[in-house]
Amino acid sequence: MKITVWNEFAHEKSDPAVKAIYPDGIHAVIASFLRDAGYEVRTATLDDPECGLTDEVLDDTDVLFWWGHMRHGDVPDSVVNRVYKHVIGGMGMVVLHSGHASKIFQKLMGTPSGELKWRESGDREILWVIEQGHPITRGIGEKIILEHEETYGEHFLVPQPDELVFISWFTGGEVFRSGCVYKRGRGKIFYFRPGHESVPTYHNPEVQKVLVNAAAYVYTPKAEAPYQYGWVKPTVE
Ligand code: ZN
Repeated sequence: MKITVWNEFAHEKSDPAVKAIYPDGIHAVIASFLRDAGYEVRTATLDDPECGLTDEVLDDTDVLFWWGHMRHGDVPDSVVNRVYKHVIGGMGMVVLHSGHASKIFQKLMGTPSGELKWRESGDREILWVIEQGHPITRGIGEKIILEHEETYGEHFLVPQPDELVFISWFTGGEVFRSGCVYKRGRGKIFYFRPGHESVPTYHNPEVQKVLVNAAAYVYTPKAEAPYQYGWVKPTVE
């Protein structure tokens, strides 16, 4: 299974505190633990030509991870449309944290999914597993505790997920649908909330386990008989 980890790779260059946690970028850490799990992984970033997401790369990608935050608007619509076409065709996608406001996630959701409450106050986050035995939560107990994270709160302006896997609670009282699975066309998407750039969330072994599991879950084998659309003669004469 081939994974491409995409990161806008901006905070890590401009903010020393973030660089201290992710010296080579968030994508490098995510790629590293996915490789350790046995996946074939490449990375791509916003400043690569075509954002590193040409048809050649996407044709060779089973699952695309996406982290973006302050430069969503710099992703060209042509790249967004290309990624969308591949997801509909069966490429899996894992959208991380502030990727909720990316153009591609909004297009896949059909809603302004950037809308939610937020606060950077270092609240503790408890991610409650609400579907034990789900392939994404395998190996996780009843909850994951992150000592400090950015807070997100409902309402989160997305369609009802096809599968709701985690709900978060924060010290300040907010709750949030933190693990959501969607099916779009042949493709599966998993949105996973934690991963603010100023806290070491992607170094957390349980978070890593969730993302390793999620990659396998959103993987759809290449079509053996692609769907056919349009006029057809009768199948039975
Ligand atoms: Zn954040």
